[in-house]
Amino acid sequence: MEEKNEIKDPRIALDLANRQKHYVRSGATRSLAFRIKQLQTLKAAVREHESEILEALHQDLRKSEFEAYTTELGYLYDSIGYTLKNIKRWMKPKRVRTPFIHFGSRSVIYPEPYGSALIIGPFNYPFMLVLDPLVGAIAAGNAAVVKPSEFTPHVSAVIAKLIRAHFDEEYIRVVEGGQETTSALIHAPFDVIFFTGSTRVGKIVMQAASERLVPVILELGGKSPCIVDKDADLDLAAQRIIWGKMINVGQTCVAPDYVLAHRDIKPALIAKMKERIAAFFGSDPQQSPDFGRIVNERHWERLSGLLEPSKVVAGGASDREDLYLSPTLMDCVDWDDKVMEEEIFGPILPILEYHDLEEAITAVNSRPKPLALYLFTGSKRTERRVMEAVSFGGGCVNDTLLHLVTPYLPFGGVGQSGMGAYHGRYSFEAFSHRKGVLRKSTKVSLSFIFPPYSDRNLKLIK
Ligand code: NAD
Repeated sequence: MEEKNEIKDPRIALDLANRQKHYVRSGATRSLAFRIKQLQTLKAAVREHESEILEALHQDLRKSEFEAYTTELGYLYDSIGYTLKNIKRWMKPKRVRTPFIHFGSRSVIYPEPYGSALIIGPFNYPFMLVLDPLVGAIAAGNAAVVKPSEFTPHVSAVIAKLIRAHFDEEYIRVVEGGQETTSALIHAPFDVIFFTGSTRVGKIVMQAASERLVPVILELGGKSPCIVDKDADLDLAAQRIIWGKMINVGQTCVAPDYVLAHRDIKPALIAKMKERIAAFFGSDPQQSPDFGRIVNERHWERLSGLLEPSKVVAGGASDREDLYLSPTLMDCVDWDDKVMEEEIFGPILPILEYHDLEEAITAVNSRPKPLALYLFTGSKRTERRVMEAVSFGGGCVNDTLLHLVTPYLPFGGVGQSGMGAYHGRYSFEAFSHRKGVLRKSTKVSLSFIFPPYSDRNLKLIK
């Protein structure tokens, strides 16, 4: 059995953060060559431990190999590959324009590492959601402490093992543990905190960070709506909504939390979604190797409490021993039903109806800004209207989840769903300070700015 690597004593957390700061200050992480080598090492380490990681994901969340590979490992390899291709360009100091008043001078933006980064992850994509931010931290030249979720202990242990085997711990260190450990870490003097998890804990993290004015990137959750308008392609909508909702059993931060369907197409949409569930997972999803499990009993109980039998129109089956909850559709749901109070984070999909688009927009806008929004429509006008009228983290038109699978779009929330963004270049920027420097000409001087001012005529510069 490996040593557990927990930290409960704030003094140890402080020492850890200080040693990492020192490592970065020594200049060790500055060069392009160093960063490239670390990214390559990370990729090779993950490859080497691939089967252990897939096994751990199965043990903790019963993820199928295909799903685990595509959403956790394949995703990370792509992210590292893209970063390796672009890092040289991102690292270069960038010359920008200089106003005429500074004639003869130059303006340059230097991206520099914050120093030591603390990365805290959730349980739902327990591997990718700590290692993908780590790619950004490495690329930007930081040292990092990684704290995976305690709810996925097998994955947490593999991450600790692979990082310990391949990286100097003054540079990258994994700390395992739960609330006490995280509490000790968030009060330590890290230079930036990257947190992925619930809005509730996000607030705790931000409060702790504010004591030292540590910048935070908060990747949080919330209720992400999926609007299906009357002119949508319903076959396609049903397929893509059920896929996006049921992947990882609904334990996806950007899963469509609820469907807002135009009343004219709601019955047909529900019929097609039922067909999709059967096509994806068979008549008994509990036997399907492609349908995972709820992470633990606490969440299983919470989710079971959201089921209202009179409103269930598909699924609704559960098995506590197996932490199983079937793909479930609930119809005729009202805004004040229990299932609409908080982020569901499970395989229950409530369906609400609207009569005209403005009503749907008003309903979404009267709630906290969501992390994602999905719109199914055949109309450009409807698309334009929703884009201009609703604020949300990011999303898709005529699909779900896939806005994550591109390095060109920033991914992050807004308002209650988070702050800051990452992916691709945005990951590099999330972990960098942009130092703006004006290199003044020694030949040309703005002599009029120096006192005494008594002989100046303000009218000339007004
Ligand atoms: P969580 O907030 O319960 O836990 C996340 C991390 O915070 C864990 O590492 C945990 O150890 C730590 N933590 C828990 N309680 C703490 C406390 N009191 N003080 C300090 N640290 C504490 O989240 P979760 O249940 O693991 O994940 C689900 C949530 O994460 C959902 O809300 C989901 O939407 C969100 N999420 C967001 C994204 C995103 O990219 N925006 C991605 C995945 C999950």
